Amino acid sequence: MLPPSPIIDELLAAAYGRAESHHEGVVADYIPILAEADPEAFGLCIVDVQGGLHELGDTRTRFSIQSISKAFVYALVCQEFGHEKVLDVVGVNNTGLAFNSVVAIELNDGHPMNPMVNAGAIATTALMPGDTPGQKWDAILAGLSAFTGRTLDVDDVVYRSEAATNTRNHAIARLLESYGRITHDPLDVVDVYTRQCAISVDARDLAVMAATLADGGVNPVTGTRVVSAEVARDTLAVLAANGLYERSGEWLFEIGLPGKSGVAGGLVTIAPGKAGIGSYSPRLDSAGNSVRGQIATAYLSRSLGLNVFASASHFASAKPASRTSEETR
Ligand code: GLN
Repeated sequence: MLPPSPIIDELLAAAYGRAESHHEGVVADYIPILAEADPEAFGLCIVDVQGGLHELGDTRTRFSIQSISKAFVYALVCQEFGHEKVLDVVGVNNTGLAFNSVVAIELNDGHPMNPMVNAGAIATTALMPGDTPGQKWDAILAGLSAFTGRTLDVDDVVYRSEAATNTRNHAIARLLESYGRITHDPLDVVDVYTRQCAISVDARDLAVMAATLADGGVNPVTGTRVVSAEVARDTLAVLAANGLYERSGEWLFEIGLPGKSGVAGGLVTIAPGKAGIGSYSPRLDSAGNSVRGQIATAYLSRSLGLNVFASASHFASAKPASRTSEETR
């Protein structure tokens, strides 16, 4: 259970203030247009599983969803094909390498490893229902719009900027093709993937999307079931292991919740059965994860008691083994 609304608002403000004092990290520039983002922009939003909204800062500033789309497209593909097929075709294990690693594919006999790195995401997009790239794209846009509860569209400037420069994703898709891991035209698949990454969202949208996964696949704002509870569960397991790429272990250790980052500065975090958190702040760490988003989310996880690994002894009188650094963080 979350605390009453005024307390959530207070903790949201404290999380925001703590993260706002951080100026480290750099705005992504390998997709040229992303370099133009305001490095100081910062929005933070919580949506609980009853649809209650708490927000602060630039929560209505639009940015491209980027890799966060991978989580939701994966959920749509799981819904279509089920647990076994996605486990076999895409996998669930962390590569321990960067999101756009080519070496990771080679080291694993052409297996894309997991849907949160580019190779696995491209393989997942290829699995979307539809015979043509246009049909796959329509299914992605409709599916992600159901997760947000509003009709989404593409930021055409971002799409064109990435489409003109994403030779690396072309190479990844060709490599997957060479291993027989995708059977569709690889450049067509990358084009759909690039479009899905350029979908325009804000921090509030991300919080609603996250809350939908937190609510067993039902969008708590619209009341629409988007995916099954089993699919939501499987998606969260994959996010816990891979959502922040090679930093997923540190993230889980500090925050204890499934999450997913994107290079435009978005971040979603899911507290199962409780709430979704969405944030936007474009300065990134070296793995491509929003610095302020991580700091704010860590504070919220601790102060709202969201860490899924936390438990209290049923022996009420048990003394702590030793004082931890928890109070000081
Ligand atoms: N569209 C980006 C890419 O393919 C997404 C990467 C990300 O957000 N980490 O490189």
